[in-house]
Amino acid sequence: MPINPKKSLATFSLTSCGGCLEVLNENTNRYSGLQNFYEIERFLPNKIEKKYDIVIIEGHPLTEKQIGSAKLIRRQAKIVVALGSCAHIGGVYDEMVTLLPKEKRARKLLSEIVRVDYIVPGCPPDQAELTRCLMDLYWGKIFCLPDLAVCFECRQNENVCLIKKNKLCLGPITRMGCNSICVNNGEACLGCRGLKPDANIRKMTEILKPIIPEFEAKKIMSIFGNLDAKQ
Ligand code: SF4
Ligand code: SF4
Ligand code: SF4
Repeated sequence: MPINPKKSLATFSLTSCGGCLEVLNENTNRYSGLQNFYEIERFLPNKIEKKYDIVIIEGHPLTEKQIGSAKLIRRQAKIVVALGSCAHIGGVYDEMVTLLPKEKRARKLLSEIVRVDYIVPGCPPDQAELTRCLMDLYWGKIFCLPDLAVCFECRQNENVCLIKKNKLCLGPITRMGCNSICVNNGEACLGCRGLKPDANIRKMTEILKPIIPEFEAKKIMSIFGNLDAKQ
């Protein structure tokens, strides 16, 4: 048990599948350790009455209403953690904006609307990384993400490189931390954890040219967010 008192933690969903917060639920149900450190609450935007030490937001803000909620939440939170690809880079729900009536579309990243203090990336996010983030924040430390590419973990896992087999993979530009789970299971990395710092998009596009047409490469790079927007 911690010597310090518990901190307050609230969760909130924007447009999402709920998978990210399920990772948090699984974490608390299975290990129950986090409950020794945090009072965890879920809330609806119209019920935010008190301040929280930490608010975890999952999902992508797709409407003006959600933008308003995100701003309200920011005011009530000492620390905001964006959980998962949708909250981090738009994620798979970014394309859904086209299904909404034009006047209701917002299409901004959460970090373009409010200050985001920390990110736990991925679709879904990694449970161990989420725990590390919450424990670092509990003890007042700064939570840092790894800076290297997924390729680093992939090589450590002794996978045969997909690109060398003439198959696409976004591992070289994607931030590691998932233990290259997709490649370990025979699938390509599609960049759900977002770009690693100084990712070389131009070089990635060149590498993919003999494998897939450029427009397809762009499509692949937009599955979880506009990864090539920095080109
Ligand atoms: S990041 Fe993935 S798991 Fe999380 S809400 Fe979005 S689609 Fe669901
Ligand atoms: S398979 Fe993908 S992640 Fe693995 S080394 Fe090759 S490019 Fe990198
Ligand atoms: S290998 Fe790539 S797509 Fe798969 S979980 Fe890791 S970052 Fe996401």
